Amino acid sequence: MTLIELKESLHNCQRCKLAKLGRTQVVFGVGNPHASIMFVGEGPGFYEDKQGEPFVGAAGKLLNDLLQSIGLSRPDIYIANVVKCRPPNNRDPEPDEVETCKPFLLQQIELIQPKLVCTLGKWAAQTLLNRPVSIMKMRGQAVRLERFTLFPLLHPAAALHQGNLRGSLEEDFHKLKAYLDRLDAQAAQAAPAVSSPPAAPTQMNLF
Ligand code: SF4
Repeated sequence: MTLIELKESLHNCQRCKLAKLGRTQVVFGVGNPHASIMFVGEGPGFYEDKQGEPFVGAAGKLLNDLLQSIGLSRPDIYIANVVKCRPPNNRDPEPDEVETCKPFLLQQIELIQPKLVCTLGKWAAQTLLNRPVSIMKMRGQAVRLERFTLFPLLHPAAALHQGNLRGSLEEDFHKLKAYLDRLDAQAAQAAPAVSSPPAAPTQMNLF
């Protein structure tokens, strides 16, 4: 299956109750289908639901600014959410909704094959780690998984709602930049041989 075919297969998806709780459309994901860096948020908000694209509201603007601050832009990355339909009143997605929609996120990752998956907020991190997490403890630390490295970041919306988290989010992106620079340096050392995986930790905390 291709990414486009997966997207088409979810058009008008009715597999979980979010389909009947006021969504406008399924927000599948957007970006470079060959991206080496993928960002995963929690679920569509008001503007995402209306426009059919992840991170287009104020949180999206902040995300764009943070990406730019580390030399990235939206065309460089792919971005998707854990659940692809808007939870009513922007509530957290419920466990049954996450479990039902998660296979489609995993399929997206399988098809895109990013080296790095940057999760935005607690929900995305714990969905991909299959366990509860404290985002404040693990943010900004690389976690090597079987198929990719997970890099948990705070959610931009959290920084918008709690101004004291803005600095923490910027710090997360600085750590992400440092990690990407290390990958580039290792790739340059390995050239012209096929690039090998970074000397990432088997568990967590590069820094
Ligand atoms: S959230 Fe996912 S599983 Fe639920 S209806 Fe939307 S696309 Fe289907």
